[in-house]
Amino acid sequence: MGRRLGVMGGTFDPIHYGHLVTAEEALAQFELEGVLFVPTGLPWMKEHEVVSPAEDRYLMTVIATASNPLFRVSRIEVEREGPTYTVETLRALKAEEDADLYFITGADAILEIVQWKDRSDLFDLAHFIAATRPGYDMAGFEVPGEMSDAVTEMNIPALAISSTDIRDRVKAGRPIRYLVPEGVKSYIEKAGLYR
Ligand code: ATP
Ligand code: MG
Repeated sequence: MGRRLGVMGGTFDPIHYGHLVTAEEALAQFELEGVLFVPTGLPWMKEHEVVSPAEDRYLMTVIATASNPLFRVSRIEVEREGPTYTVETLRALKAEEDADLYFITGADAILEIVQWKDRSDLFDLAHFIAATRPGYDMAGFEVPGEMSDAVTEMNIPALAISSTDIRDRVKAGRPIRYLVPEGVKSYIEKAGLYR
């Protein structure tokens, strides 16, 4: 059996316990050797929204994952100029890591991905894990025929946490403790994010 590496892409603005639980479950359920978190550079799907600086999102991801020896964080997208494309990232990681890649997503993200134009390239590069996520129904979700082997659904303990809600909470002065790791909460305060 070759190496099996999980890849968890995201904006992570900020990273929260929903992301961490999803990665940890994938690690166990798919017998991965580790999970590589890949914070996006400038996400093309969020171009019209304000996204925090990549360096802040990268650092929060490092802080959140520091205590887990099987979690790593990649700077590959943070350092790339221009918008981020998952296909390019997976191609680069495949060459760099020499492992079978398992791309970990939530239900909302996988529903978007299967609509992409170049999705067959994508499905050649990695196996996709689609985690259940409160508010996004996977019933009726069907992977286009020839790619049905490339996606596996994964049930995880439901956490109705989103970065959007956390940003709204900070802005409104409502609590985020227990939604994000303590160090991430401190970083948000120190850097003055989402005010
Ligand atoms: P935003 O509200 O800004 O879109 P988000 O909480 O959706 O943030 P992202 O960085 O967009 O976080 O998500 C990265 C990946 O993590 C995506 O694949 C997303 O589906 C997944 N994910 C995020 N939150 C959860 C959650 N609570 N449960 C399961 N998967 C999640
Ligand atoms: Mg999202």
